[in-house]
Amino acid sequence: SAAAVVVVRHRMRNSGKWTKALDILKEFDDKCQTPISKLRQVADAMTVEMHAGLASDGGSKLKMLISYVDNLPTGDETGIFYALDLGGTNFRVLRVKLGGVENVKKEFQEVSIPPNLMIGNCEDLFDFIAGELAKFVATEGEDMQIPAGTQRELGFTFSFPVKQSSIAGGTLVRWTKGFNIEDAVGQDVVEELTKAMERVGLDMRVSALVNDTVGTLAGGRYSDPDVIAAVILGTGTNAAYVERANAIPKWQGLLPKSGEMVINMEWGNFRSSHLPLTEYDESLDNDSLNPGEQIYEKMISGMYLGEIVRRVLLKMAVEAEFFGDTVPSKLEKPFILRTPDMSAMHHDSTPDLKVVATKLKDILEISNTSLKMRKVIVELCEIVATRGARLSAAGILGILKKTGRDTIKEGEENQKSVIAMDGGLFEHYTKFRNSMQNTMDELLGEEASKNVIIKLSNDGSGLGAALLAASHSQYREYIES
Ligand code: BGC
Ligand code: MG
Repeated sequence: SAAAVVVVRHRMRNSGKWTKALDILKEFDDKCQTPISKLRQVADAMTVEMHAGLASDGGSKLKMLISYVDNLPTGDETGIFYALDLGGTNFRVLRVKLGGVENVKKEFQEVSIPPNLMIGNCEDLFDFIAGELAKFVATEGEDMQIPAGTQRELGFTFSFPVKQSSIAGGTLVRWTKGFNIEDAVGQDVVEELTKAMERVGLDMRVSALVNDTVGTLAGGRYSDPDVIAAVILGTGTNAAYVERANAIPKWQGLLPKSGEMVINMEWGNFRSSHLPLTEYDESLDNDSLNPGEQIYEKMISGMYLGEIVRRVLLKMAVEAEFFGDTVPSKLEKPFILRTPDMSAMHHDSTPDLKVVATKLKDILEISNTSLKMRKVIVELCEIVATRGARLSAAGILGILKKTGRDTIKEGEENQKSVIAMDGGLFEHYTKFRNSMQNTMDELLGEEASKNVIIKLSNDGSGLGAALLAASHSQYREYIES
């Protein structure tokens, strides 16, 4: 009958659409593949760029910024110091009392940054920060008072590329992540903070300016002498490591006594023809606040993973009517699908994928999805997270190669290499973390991987900044004598 024909046609049309949706997924999956051979190419390219970035300013997309940290904490630091951590969606203020590794007292407060300040002007941002810092200082208790007649000192963790001029000064190269405040680019961020502190009547000296990777490295080294690098996998991504000072041709200064210098790689800006880029990555980049920059970061970090998933889903909705004959309007909204929600869907262990259904409904206002559709979405999360995790493992291999720690050397069979790790993506996205760890093991092989340890160092950067403020304190001479 005519009705039956209509039903059959409808089914055929639907199965055609379904096939088309799966084709889109399949094609994306193919383009995202990261076999070990490719990861080795990425690691080698990373090593090559590291050399180039150390050779000269502008020698590579990798800035390989000199941190002016040539001495890492020993454990003997003492005193009360402040730290301020700016870089993601929140910023944190800390007060730390140092008295040996077993005796650290920390007080902190976390404040979220009003979104309009992230794209406003320099003065407003720093006024806000200084204001919050002043409020926090006002809560100082009896046991956290600095000696009378001394000035409070601060370690400033600023998680953006900065060209440092000293341990406590440097100019912003450019913004990354969701920040875009034009009049701050090229400014000395310590000067800006100092002026803002003066405006709010806060008397405090910035003793150290550090990237979060450098802070995490310092914080990690404090309690573990085997820490040789730090990686952040959070809103953004980056790494810092300890380099031999005489392996930095662009360094014009005196060779430090330690013979070492911490380098802030700014690896988020890494780019290579070996990276498995897709059309979705390209359009994400084009539409971003910083097109052409931070390409590696845009494939790996927490700010972007959910957004990549959204873009693929949107294509499936538009070209294969994946969600029916209209495109869900929420799905067209950039950054609406956040990585924590993606992670929740990816980890859904209910038999009927209830979490996926709820997230689709709550975030995208999509209801009535079939189990089959929800499985496709989980698969999509898997593809995006796995690619990011494996690429970040390749980056770490690049550092290990550069420092000669990717293989076991004769006489150094027990030499451990610890990577201090921080960031919400690594901490909370279990499947990402596991995939990264497994890929590390796969890349290094059974023997060598025993000596490479990735260690979560939760908020190591705050402690690290306070420690570096201590070792660069204006009163250090008096403290030590
Ligand atoms: C910034 C780095 C920072 C990283 C992690 C990147 O976007 O450029 O300076 O270390 O995010 O916070
Ligand atoms: Mg951070």
